[in-house]
Amino acid sequence: MARGLHLARVLTISTFSAALQSADDVPPPEATEQWSPVPPVVAAPPGAPPSDAILLFAGKSLEAWTHSTSQTGTSPPSSRSWKVVDDAMVIEPGAGDIQTKAAFGDVQLHLEFQTPRAVKGEGQDRGNSGIFFMGRYELQILDSYRNATYVNGQAASVYKQFAPLVNATRAPGEWQTYDIVFCAPHFKGGTTPARMTVFHNGVLVQNDVTLLGATTYRGKPVYEPHEEKLPLALQDHGSPVAFRNIWAREITCRTASK
Ligand code: MG
Repeated sequence: MARGLHLARVLTISTFSAALQSADDVPPPEATEQWSPVPPVVAAPPGAPPSDAILLFAGKSLEAWTHSTSQTGTSPPSSRSWKVVDDAMVIEPGAGDIQTKAAFGDVQLHLEFQTPRAVKGEGQDRGNSGIFFMGRYELQILDSYRNATYVNGQAASVYKQFAPLVNATRAPGEWQTYDIVFCAPHFKGGTTPARMTVFHNGVLVQNDVTLLGATTYRGKPVYEPHEEKLPLALQDHGSPVAFRNIWAREITCRTASK
């Protein structure tokens, strides 16, 4: 009995759907198909950078990097270099920040990092580094594994602006990943702010946040107009944080009007 009732219902719905399909005001499916422009093909082999990525560190050479004139951490610029150890590049505390030779605007960045296995210090003084997009806008790197600090300064925070949605930090000494979409600010005809989306170890931690200005340790962040493209910088904050598999893809962030 119940089966018969079910069949009747299916027939009724099918008949109704058929009537809708035959109505003159329903466009054909082709009307909403888009065939161009065809997205470029990008090879995405497992465990390797995409074919259109710019390799910034692949395990051997620091040639994509140079000293930075900025001093975002605890160390002034110096002539000492970061080291390459076991296919990773490692902060040499006191050597100062480094930055890419290439300049970037809108960018997708993949980066793997490891805070020291030997836990030393606490709060901001434990495994601190950071990625400075355009040398100005910091995504914090910190050992935030059972290490309390102000939440808008913990790992995966947009420093002093946005705490991460969750704390996805792995234990000290484990490799971790950041996958970031950074949309550069623009200054023609007024300020269009920067935006950032971040996955930490595959977990969404920043969801298209609108940055308030350049990172600042004291006071409120503000924007000061700058070039359309600028180098990425990594911070020396006095802790020997290691990095590997760093690659970037230049992208174009679509604006709401497009
Ligand atoms: Mg930092």
